Amino acid sequence: MKKVTVLGGGIAGVEAAIHLRKKNFEVTVISNRDYVYIYPISIWVPTGEKTLQDVSVPLAKLAGKHGFRVIVDEVVSIRAAEGTVVLKTWGDYREFDYLVVALGASKLKPQGAAHTLSICGEPGEAAMLHERLETLVQRGQGQIAIGFGGNPQDQSAVRGGPAFEVMFNIDHFLRRRRLRQSFDLTFFAPMESPGARMGTKAVKKMGQMFETLGISTRFGRKIVRFEPDGVVFEDGSVLASDLTMFIPAGAGQKVLRDSGLPLSTAGFIEIDDYCQVPGFDHIYAIGDSAAMRGPEWKAKQGHLAEVMARNVAHNIAVRESGGQNFLGYEEHVGILCVMDSGNGAAYVERDARHEKMILMPFFGHWLKKSWGVYYKLSKMDKIPRLPGM
Ligand SMILES: Cc1cc2nc3c(=O)[nH]c(=O)nc-3n(C[C@H](O)[C@H](O)[C@H](O)COP(=O)(O)OP(=O)(O)OC[C@H]3O[C@@H](n4cnc5c(N)ncnc54)[C@H](O)[C@@H]3O)c2cc1C
Repeated sequence: MKKVTVLGGGIAGVEAAIHLRKKNFEVTVISNRDYVYIYPISIWVPTGEKTLQDVSVPLAKLAGKHGFRVIVDEVVSIRAAEGTVVLKTWGDYREFDYLVVALGASKLKPQGAAHTLSICGEPGEAAMLHERLETLVQRGQGQIAIGFGGNPQDQSAVRGGPAFEVMFNIDHFLRRRRLRQSFDLTFFAPMESPGARMGTKAVKKMGQMFETLGISTRFGRKIVRFEPDGVVFEDGSVLASDLTMFIPAGAGQKVLRDSGLPLSTAGFIEIDDYCQVPGFDHIYAIGDSAAMRGPEWKAKQGHLAEVMARNVAHNIAVRESGGQNFLGYEEHVGILCVMDSGNGAAYVERDARHEKMILMPFFGHWLKKSWGVYYKLSKMDKIPRLPGM
């Protein structure tokens, strides 16, 4: 039985491990967390609707169900040419015929980032957002600023959707507590039209929602730094804030820098349509770690990470059997998300042919919640998987 090692036990790594096991490979997942963190449903942690435990699944449970091995350790470097992965505790690790890199992305560090919390960073930050929000609620008033930044070297690494979701959820949370009138909420981003990759309809509807809910905006101003009590912009203006939630754009993981793997300018691993790394026929990269190809509005998303993961399991199996019917990811590049607002959601879909945004009051919120339940149960094979999910 050929051995495949998957680096990273996130959304992409777990999906790859499950599908590689279905193809009868001997699979090891190496990850620095002993759980998969389901980022898309972590948006409810700041408002206390979910705990960190609710949005995680222990890797040991998944491993027991599907028969893969888990090593909880930190990847400190990769020497691709000699087929070695260096782990913090284990040391040099070479027990694989194929390597699948699914380490996710790192985050850019703007000046003063320590004065912000991100919903897209370490899971503990989501819990801290909840604590800080509760403290403000106890105080009875405050100023909350929520925003996201860009990476000029890779537009696909920008993560704006969750910033909108957290903002709308906090607005809804404060209304439920009858405190909304005592809080100033401001959404900020350096681009003129944040959310543009979701399409023009989405941007328009988002603008209307901000207006209806009385959420101020500061768009098109470069962020210079964060301070304990606010955000300083290039034009010298300051946005006062008691709580700043900021999602920096992504970049490639530091451990990839000296790996010898081909990297994009933003540090992501170059791949072909089959997720294989050029020049390394036994190495694949999937999910947020990989440099995506596609239209300029493309975005790193979980649904695409899972397509890549399933394709890689298929492609390695095909290769082993001497076949040629490899599967590509590029035809699946598109934006697909249910953007939650606490009491409803917007369904956003964009591909090469069309863009749509459908508002789903009330029902949308429960649809997204149901997806979280579906994710957990289907990964444990407790319910059948829907086609393509
Ligand atoms: C708040 C939020 C909401 C989102 N909502 C949606 C949505 O609604 N729809 C959608 O499609 N996408 C959504 N996304 C995007 C989606 O979550 C990501 O695209 C997806 O998680 C990528 O999966 P991944 O496995 O590549 O990376 P990750 O899920 O980040 O997993 C990477 C894994 O690698 C591990 N790791 C990292 N470095 C090391 C190291 N040095 N050594 C060992 N292990 C390491 C990490 O611990 C982690 O387990 C959202 C993202 C966020 C943050």
